[in-house]
Amino acid sequence: MKIEIFKGKGKKKQFYTGLNQGMGVMKTGTKEWAKSNLNFQLGCEHGCRYCYAREMAVNRFNRCTVEQWTQPVIDNEKVDQPRGKRKGIIMFPSTHDLTPLNMSQYLCVLRKLLDAGNKVLIVSKPHWSCITVICDFYTEFRDQIMFRFTIGSMNDEILSFWEPEAPNFAERLACLQYAFQRGFKTSVSCEPYLDPYVVYTYTACKGYLTDSFWIGKLKHFDRRVDLSGISTEEIEKFVKPLKAAQGDDIVKSMYRLLDGRPFVQWKDSIREVMKRTAKDKKRIKGYWRPLECPECGAKMICDGTTPPIRHYKKLVDNKEL
Ligand code: SF4
Repeated sequence: MKIEIFKGKGKKKQFYTGLNQGMGVMKTGTKEWAKSNLNFQLGCEHGCRYCYAREMAVNRFNRCTVEQWTQPVIDNEKVDQPRGKRKGIIMFPSTHDLTPLNMSQYLCVLRKLLDAGNKVLIVSKPHWSCITVICDFYTEFRDQIMFRFTIGSMNDEILSFWEPEAPNFAERLACLQYAFQRGFKTSVSCEPYLDPYVVYTYTACKGYLTDSFWIGKLKHFDRRVDLSGISTEEIEKFVKPLKAAQGDDIVKSMYRLLDGRPFVQWKDSIREVMKRTAKDKKRIKGYWRPLECPECGAKMICDGTTPPIRHYKKLVDNKEL
């Protein structure tokens, strides 16, 4: 349910209830996870075809070209900055990833954040060489760190098409297991899901979670996905199936299968589909509500057409309804 409240000068604030949200302002994107973000690099060598950060940097802010995006540039001034205590959880990073190439800078900034008492959400398509170092050398900060590993599919062919330079499934799962066994808080982001078999990914990961398993769609598919250099065969094999998997029917069956399972959380893209569905159901229920014939009181069905009422009576009498 959505309730709108006016907030001065015609601005509306929207409140939502239901679908795991409780009562409160509906948050979307990274705001669902953290109060603020931190990054020190432009570009990311993982080169995901659906990358939101690349789309913003290239199309919206003209900060680099598509080709430059996969050759990241580190901003050393940001790395060297002192870090104080911030309010709320810090998502670090949010517009690049943590990779072997930027590991030393990452560790340096992370240490400053942790020393200042911050809580840090580490979101990554995790590399074994990076995650094990954090787990081994930052053990005393276990309570301040939450790992959130992005795993959109168990299928390496699909992963390497959509996220060409990111680690394969086995490496990501191994990182999850390692962090879990070392006593860190762990969670998974299956956003965007890259195939409709989210239940298998969930099953593979759930034994190593302490916090949550987030599921979300690939938003703004046509605008965001970079299809340059893709063959017709790849379009048939990877692009069309993923686009089809964004459909409401797939989302609904996924929801039916997984809602209420331990750790499962739905991102705004899925909640939006389920809210629309709930509204449709309500409308259809009202449309088909049984009525009584004003002449004889017999039950009849209002189907929105207007045959004579006597016709309904006759149908009811003949037990055809
Ligand atoms: S890992 Fe994240 S930041 Fe890097 S290319 Fe992929 S989506 Fe973009």
